[in-house]
Amino acid sequence: MRNSTETGGFKNRARPRRRRTAAAQQSLPKSAHHRLYQVSTATALVQGIYAGAVRVGTLRRHGDLGLGTFENLDGEMAIVDGHCFQVRSDGSVRECDDDALSPFAVVTRFAPAEAVTLAQCPDMSHLTSRFDALRPSDNFFFALRVDGFFEYVHTRAMHRTVEGMPLVQAAAVQPEFEFYNVSGTLVGFWTPEYAKTLNVPGYHLHFLSDDRMRGGHLLECRGTNLRLQVQREGDCHVVLPETEDFFKADLRRDPAADLAKAEGGKK
Ligand code: ZN
Repeated sequence: MRNSTETGGFKNRARPRRRRTAAAQQSLPKSAHHRLYQVSTATALVQGIYAGAVRVGTLRRHGDLGLGTFENLDGEMAIVDGHCFQVRSDGSVRECDDDALSPFAVVTRFAPAEAVTLAQCPDMSHLTSRFDALRPSDNFFFALRVDGFFEYVHTRAMHRTVEGMPLVQAAAVQPEFEFYNVSGTLVGFWTPEYAKTLNVPGYHLHFLSDDRMRGGHLLECRGTNLRLQVQREGDCHVVLPETEDFFKADLRRDPAADLAKAEGGKK
């Protein structure tokens, strides 16, 4: 008897709460629900936690667009149309098999409803200001894609290093590449400032040419007739590396300054 009374009491308390939730949901704009799948955190990457945590095959099961890096910071990852590519510090590009390991990556299933064409894009700040206008909020993660003809692309690719080497020091050796008149795709994300311990705040884009021969972490670009697509991410699934170094790391510090230095290139 006591149990059934308690159950009944619980039901009575729960009912109005459910009604309020339903009302709140009705007032939200209708939108497809998209999920970000992320491996590790920006702070861990900054501190040199580069041991492989998740396989490329797992990333590909959770998304068809994304970016990241590989075990021991061995180059830049670009996932385009479900295929995962590795851009190494010698500039070479290869498609990865599903067994390759990543210490840090972000992927999503990319299916935006609309695209916007940017007739002239003189530089990367013009591109990001156009994306600013397409984002309805600063408080969500957004997945981004740009396709088109680039008169100029400037990238870099991280050089393979050792576990524990801080990202700022590892990034001191990061060969840069300049490409001219190349068709290709930019993939990446916009991350809210509040999530800076998880991911690179602001815009982060990786390039892959249509011929799959050139790519890297984007530093600058210029293009014409670029097709821009944006997708708002409704939630973020973070997978934490079950590696020895991640268990022991002190992840309390703010990684923003180191990230800005490491991700911005040698300018
Ligand atoms: Zn990058």
